[in-house]
Amino acid sequence: MGSNPTFGTKQKMAEMINLEIPDPFETFVSNKYKNYIGAVYDFFAREWHMKCGCCKEDLYAPNKKTMTKIRLYHTRNECMGGY
Ligand SMILES: [Zn+2]
Repeated sequence: MGSNPTFGTKQKMAEMINLEIPDPFETFVSNKYKNYIGAVYDFFAREWHMKCGCCKEDLYAPNKKTMTKIRLYHTRNECMGGY
């Protein structure tokens, strides 16, 4: 008598459940950039990402210089095509 043999098992299960809580840093980053308009570096995909201000289309580029080129090409030829 004295120690409860099932206590250790319950403690382990509680620890496993805790691991499934979303990473607070990841949540912070996605909230921080939720309303941000402009190029954002995606650390997970390792590329730049932005939403077109006109048609809300997603644009991706490996670096910021290419992103500017893609954005200009996109606005000239895809959104504002003909203008
Ligand atoms: Zn667009």
